[in-house]
Amino acid sequence: MSISARRVEDSDGALLGAAVSYTDVTEFMRAAQVKDDFIALVSHELRTPLTSIVGYVAIALDEEDLDPVLRKQLEVVARNGRRLERLVGDLLDEVQHERRPASLRDQTTDLAEIVRESVAAARPHATASEVELVADVPASIPFTGDGQRLAQVVDNLVSNAIKYSEAGGRTEVRAGVEGGSAVIRVRDTGIGIDPADHDQLFTRFFRTREATLRAIQGVGLGLSITKSIVESHGGVIEVDSEVGQGSEFRVVLPLHVVERLAS
Ligand code: ADP
Repeated sequence: MSISARRVEDSDGALLGAAVSYTDVTEFMRAAQVKDDFIALVSHELRTPLTSIVGYVAIALDEEDLDPVLRKQLEVVARNGRRLERLVGDLLDEVQHERRPASLRDQTTDLAEIVRESVAAARPHATASEVELVADVPASIPFTGDGQRLAQVVDNLVSNAIKYSEAGGRTEVRAGVEGGSAVIRVRDTGIGIDPADHDQLFTRFFRTREATLRAIQGVGLGLSITKSIVESHGGVIEVDSEVGQGSEFRVVLPLHVVERLAS
């Protein structure tokens, strides 16, 4: 049941009373569940054959005396196979995050290590895109949370920073503790985002006009997944950006869980 209320005023603004409305959302919740189950099922069914396609193409590409034309064609298949794998992974994550068992959601992890690993994993992408990638991360930031999902947060932000930059750009990743929170900042010198779009950025399937016009590949799921992971850890994600000026994404994660465990 969803309940909403609003003031009712006369033409002079004097309070007359309140209007309360009750909406039965059972059907809506059921439809949302059916949709999530459907996405999970389809993604699972796609993942198995896809893994086999990508795996066999990789084996074929290992062949040394491969015809050069065939190699180029197989590389296209491999690249698109990986894109599909990412998309299927994103769709699964979208519906599965909240369903992960508590034992996976509440591990002691090291955020500094997670950030370092994400940056290392993104380095080939940065090099291929001619984007300088620099990181400033302390030795350790102990944190209680879902390490695998938090890694995804950093992976998404860093890969976006590189993807939405031009050759010669720079991406900076910084992590640290400020007050009672761990703060991760990913800043780029890329194409930027119109402030009018900031509110919608974290909505499923939203893409800016700029990204679409430049035909930069993506489906608009990464940031919505990122936001839901951050929020499930009690954190917030914020953005500062202007078109043509680059962007900064800031993730703030409260450390209180660690403090509570330590006391
Ligand atoms: P995707 O990159 O797959 O489209 P995301 O959900 O990660 O999906 O991002 C949503 C949209 O936000 C992108 O399509 C792009 O328009 C914009 N965006 C995200 N990160 C950046 C960035 N660092 N610089 C410029 N635009 C960005």
